[in-house]
Amino acid sequence: MTQPRPLVAGNWKMNGSRASWKEAESLAERLAAGNGAQIDVMLCPPATLIAQFASSLKGSDILVGGQDCHSESSGAHTGDIAAEMLADAGASAVIVGHSERRADHGETSDAVHAKAQAVHRAGLIVIICIGETQAEREQGDTLSIVSSQLSGSLPDDARADNTVIAYEPVWAIGTGLTPTLDDVGEVHHHIRSVLRDRLGEAEASSIRILYGGSVKPGNAAELMAVADVNGALVGGASLKADDFWGIISVYGEK
Ligand code: PEP
Repeated sequence: MTQPRPLVAGNWKMNGSRASWKEAESLAERLAAGNGAQIDVMLCPPATLIAQFASSLKGSDILVGGQDCHSESSGAHTGDIAAEMLADAGASAVIVGHSERRADHGETSDAVHAKAQAVHRAGLIVIICIGETQAEREQGDTLSIVSSQLSGSLPDDARADNTVIAYEPVWAIGTGLTPTLDDVGEVHHHIRSVLRDRLGEAEASSIRILYGGSVKPGNAAELMAVADVNGALVGGASLKADDFWGIISVYGEK
């Protein structure tokens, strides 16, 4: 069976200004010189930079994504952004359900499900984040939390070409901590089996399941080599082209 094409996506969170373009430009130049790895690379900058990045990166090997969206396409929702607006700005994907959104904005899996449907309605790829807290892991609830977040957030029309899952243990995000490779493998295998029950073998085996949480150049190779890990969602280490390139290049160069 052919492996899903890996995706390495950078989530810049609330970081970056127009001057940060130099990091994206440097990355695009390196990819142009040697993206033999046959992987997809994506940057998800703050919403203020999406149009600039998308237009400047057109024709490059870098896709641009949003970090969140509203579930509706327009209306009285001050400060929110519709998936259709992100599409109009040139995004090709949107992250939904990041643990910082779930924690800071009280987003439930029902809300994430509605946002994921909105991303599909706009014709974009949705990256759905799921993951357990430290307390949930210590209580032995990791697999049940991940299953219920996935089942609750996944839209019925999920397919390999419109949906990516990102497993991000909350306690590993921005902390420098990572699960053991066995633990990563166990959770990714479990996610694949939940996808199989819901979508059938063909779609489930082709959907990309990213690992996220303190991925760095120094640990990316071993994490990306775990079975059922089809790439990474990277926060802090995606802000600088040197670090992000160090992660991308574990997939090899031309
Ligand atoms: C993230 O926020 O999606 C993330 C994985 O962050 P970091 O890589 O900084 O842990």
